Amino acid sequence: MTYQVLARKYRPQNFQEIVGQEHVVQALVNGIENDRLHHAFLFTGTRGVGKTTLARVLAKSLNCLEGISGNPCGVCQHCQEIKNGEFIDLIEVDAASRTGVDDTRSLLENVQYAPNKGKFKIYLIDEVHMFSKSSFNALLKTLEEPPEHVKFLLATTEPDKLPVTVLSRCLQFNLKRLTQKQIGDHLIHLLEKESVPYDDKAIQLISRVADGSMRDALSLMDQSLAFGAGKINFDEIRAMLGTVEQSHVEELLKFIQQNNHVGVVDKLEWFHDMSVDYLQLLEDMCSLLHEISLLQSLKKVVGGSNFELSELKALSQLVSVEQVQWYYQLVVVALEQLKFTPNKKVSFEMAVIRMLDFEQGTGAIQSAAPSNQGSTSALTQDKPVATASSQVEQAPVSNQYPTSNNNSSDSVVTPAIQEAEPRMTIDDKPQVQIDLSTLNNQAWAGVFGDLQLKGGSRELARHLEIIENKNNVITFAVDHSAEIFLNEKAQQSIRNSLLVEDSNYQLKFILKSEVNSLAQQANKALSEKEEMMQQVDPVVSDLQHQFDAKIIENKLGD
Ligand SMILES: [Zn+2]
Repeated sequence: MTYQVLARKYRPQNFQEIVGQEHVVQALVNGIENDRLHHAFLFTGTRGVGKTTLARVLAKSLNCLEGISGNPCGVCQHCQEIKNGEFIDLIEVDAASRTGVDDTRSLLENVQYAPNKGKFKIYLIDEVHMFSKSSFNALLKTLEEPPEHVKFLLATTEPDKLPVTVLSRCLQFNLKRLTQKQIGDHLIHLLEKESVPYDDKAIQLISRVADGSMRDALSLMDQSLAFGAGKINFDEIRAMLGTVEQSHVEELLKFIQQNNHVGVVDKLEWFHDMSVDYLQLLEDMCSLLHEISLLQSLKKVVGGSNFELSELKALSQLVSVEQVQWYYQLVVVALEQLKFTPNKKVSFEMAVIRMLDFEQGTGAIQSAAPSNQGSTSALTQDKPVATASSQVEQAPVSNQYPTSNNNSSDSVVTPAIQEAEPRMTIDDKPQVQIDLSTLNNQAWAGVFGDLQLKGGSRELARHLEIIENKNNVITFAVDHSAEIFLNEKAQQSIRNSLLVEDSNYQLKFILKSEVNSLAQQANKALSEKEEMMQQVDPVVSDLQHQFDAKIIENKLGD
């Protein structure tokens, strides 16, 4: 006995057997029984929802020897021949393989001739959106004046690619994606008919992975029958698909949120040992974050949810709304990256590392407006530079500072990644009182924040080291790499903003090879690990630009 795959064996043979398209079936049956038959039908919907199956049942209804009815007999010669794909008046065309106008013309040439044995000559054109323009024109001509004995049944996944002229001549039916429950119930129905042992979790998994497509679900079931030697077993299907239980994805998210590095490493190793499908894993993470977000923002639980409701609720309390959005962005970036990286595992793990080590910008960049706060900080020799938090309020440069609780002495650590221009123009008088007599290189970082310089003068200021402050002359050293900024205009800006003109101070600028400037300090403070990370991972800098992301220094140090 030859084994017939379930997908074919149980292809619906009448309208009653069609799963989940009640709205379409109802409309078609009513049309047939009330003798209101259009000459062209268009069935749309995603793959595997039953477009061509429905069209074939309709073909039977129209040509059954028992008469046109919403319930074809299924046993007469015509019904049998249609079932076996042998009926001469049902012409099935796959538009994907027939796009030339000549093909279409020869196909439609015979339209005018009466059917051989049926009442109707039926053209079933699948993936009709693949037709070329000239093929559509040929089709349109026929649709404009169709002979009485011809019916067109068109099917497509992409109706928007059809010319409006064709669309407007068809009666359109949109088939819905099937829910997980509809798919699951149908699978169970078939398995019980076949007396095949199964477990519920296996059915759930197949229904979920099939993603709304009954055809995919049936073919997965056939595969798993072959794989599991005649029974449907969860662990075997999971191994076959390389999927993991959803609880592992939930746990991973929890570890990430809790910054539990040991937990994350364990999970990653486990995924590796299980040879999971990393693409599937990223997609699972995406849908987990999506479902958490729905619950958080819209108080909505997804129908046929992939995840345990209690877990979703717990996670939606644990992970903040902002974190969910941020993690989602990172996972989407990783999914995007998969196109370019041969190794899916790397993409997945990099996404997890980014979720651990980066956090989204806090919007500090928006607070770059000049602030009078702290402007009275007449700096004295022993006064430390401003703390990290006060710099955030004052200075645009501070939006690159790490968000960790650094103390003031090592707060100027990250390089200028994203430069925000202060809003003050050159003509604005800065509201800064600076005691020039005590100005030294240590105090420069704090003063720099107060100066509200912009553009080239700001860059110059960042590349300065105060090497001497003596006899009312302040000498700045500029490193050679920043020589380009050392022009008269920039120097004048710095003089103006330090109110040198109102005092009896002079500023001198000299070139030097080694300079302990703010820019230099920032570069040095980049830990080796950060540098390495940026080198191996161009996406890091993309993230920093796109999302105002920061490297969280102390997390990388672990
Ligand atoms: Zn029949």
